[in-house]
Amino acid sequence: MARSGQKLQIFALGGLGEIGKNMYVVRYGDDIVVIDAGLKFPEDEMLGVDVVIPDISYLVENRDKVRGIVLTHGHEDHIGAVPYVLRQLNVPIFGTRLTLGLVGIKLKEAGLASQARLHPVTTESVVRLGSILVTFFRVNHSIPDAVGVALTTPEGVVVHTGDFKFDQTPVDGLHADYQKMADLGRSGVLALLSDSTNAERPGYTGSERRVGENLKRIFKQTRSRIIVATFASNVNRIQQIFSAAELTGRKVAIVGRSMVNVVGIARELGYLKLDEAMLIEPEEATKLPPEKVVVLSTGSQGEPLSALARMARGAHKTLSILPGDVVILSATPIPGNERFVARVIDALFRLGAEVIYGPASETGVHVSGHGSQEELKLMLNLIRPKYFIPIHGEYRMQRRHALLAEEVGIPKNHIFVLDLGDVVEIQNGVARLGPRVNAGQVLIDGLGVGDVGNIVLRDRKLLSQDGILVVVVTLSKQKGTILSGPDIISRGFVYVRESEPLMEEATRIVTNTLNRLMTENVSDWSSLKNNVKDALSRFLYEQTRRRPMILPIIMEV
Ligand SMILES: [Zn+2]
Ligand SMILES: [Zn+2]
Repeated sequence: MARSGQKLQIFALGGLGEIGKNMYVVRYGDDIVVIDAGLKFPEDEMLGVDVVIPDISYLVENRDKVRGIVLTHGHEDHIGAVPYVLRQLNVPIFGTRLTLGLVGIKLKEAGLASQARLHPVTTESVVRLGSILVTFFRVNHSIPDAVGVALTTPEGVVVHTGDFKFDQTPVDGLHADYQKMADLGRSGVLALLSDSTNAERPGYTGSERRVGENLKRIFKQTRSRIIVATFASNVNRIQQIFSAAELTGRKVAIVGRSMVNVVGIARELGYLKLDEAMLIEPEEATKLPPEKVVVLSTGSQGEPLSALARMARGAHKTLSILPGDVVILSATPIPGNERFVARVIDALFRLGAEVIYGPASETGVHVSGHGSQEELKLMLNLIRPKYFIPIHGEYRMQRRHALLAEEVGIPKNHIFVLDLGDVVEIQNGVARLGPRVNAGQVLIDGLGVGDVGNIVLRDRKLLSQDGILVVVVTLSKQKGTILSGPDIISRGFVYVRESEPLMEEATRIVTNTLNRLMTENVSDWSSLKNNVKDALSRFLYEQTRRRPMILPIIMEV
């Protein structure tokens, strides 16, 4: 029963208006449950930034109320921020075995393994987090052990699907928990949060098993070495690659750190079944006849540092591409990665490889892990929620998902297409938008968490566009004269040897500006610097139509 005065709040700190850094929050009274803690890879304009995580200041401010983090599956966009969050908020973490196995790798790398409180769950578990009861149901996705969660609160049941599709012939034989979803629907669900990734795609997403059949066909037809690149986390795909290799008498060499890590943990936990004798070291792969070898590699997204990209550049320490190699890209580029992938494909062709790539519908060597429109409607019809919140998608996908919900009969005013930080409040069965909470992004560059802000990014952008000019000058405070300089050093602005007249004139302008200011008795640093900057910037723009960053360094003796 709902307690008087208490209300249920549902919002996202990540995962809306974007695919990545998923983090959803369900709060009832003083109990907060967090669903997922993911990261996102930076966009083009975030120069030099390594990863992006959600802004968790809301959770930090309410740290005494956060009862736990529940993870739906082991993809980076759902678990990648766990180490960063745990540093600020050491709360218990709940997830299935494979999910926690993958989290464990991250925690070890971050040196947090000993202090983290990890609690494995199954689809049978019931976890009490304050006044909220959490249960789990299995869904199909491109990684095993993926679950949706149901949170029973005093106000009603909130269901979060996690990432899902409906695969009628799953590779591991583990079907989605249709009955459980239907039971939830029958007993009444207050709000559903559902994956919008493929809301723009009509029909059904294909079965993973179909990919296995196509891989087997290609393996049988190929008389040379085969290199397959896919997501390290796609354990079912990896299983099918091993099966195709076994069928055609090939041994498998694994390259790429994340591939080695995931295959290791998945084997250890029993999610990947393969004969030890099939595994070979990359060195052995170079000695065996090509038709006896499969190389399983990272780099399906063209990541410049991945094993596949290194091979394509001729920069891998053991393996090089040989003419006649067949390279299968068993993945679709995530939006934004297309040009990286294209570059790798070009390089592979140049080395004489045959590359199987392109839309999954044509090559048959990939299927999405996310349900298309008919599957999204099926989920809505099984769960039959009173209120619907499309999540995990860019804004247009959330919109399309909202339309699908209307089609299956959910009233428009019961659907909330939210932005990060928008709060849906439900009290006595009535939902409305409440006051917003703090939400946003934190950029991580190397070891710095959140120290790269808009100003740093603006500077990096200026540097990348028009370069930099450093002006060094030493002044005598007493005499009010220039002692040495100005020396102008430039990088990325103009080719200095061909621009001597320009640089001489620039030096003259700096000298004149400083002399004028000193005769006017202007001696404070910031005025000196700003005047130099302004005068130089104006001159350079007139001459070159460029606006380099100008950094005056004025020393006084
Ligand atoms: Zn996923
Ligand atoms: Zn996801």
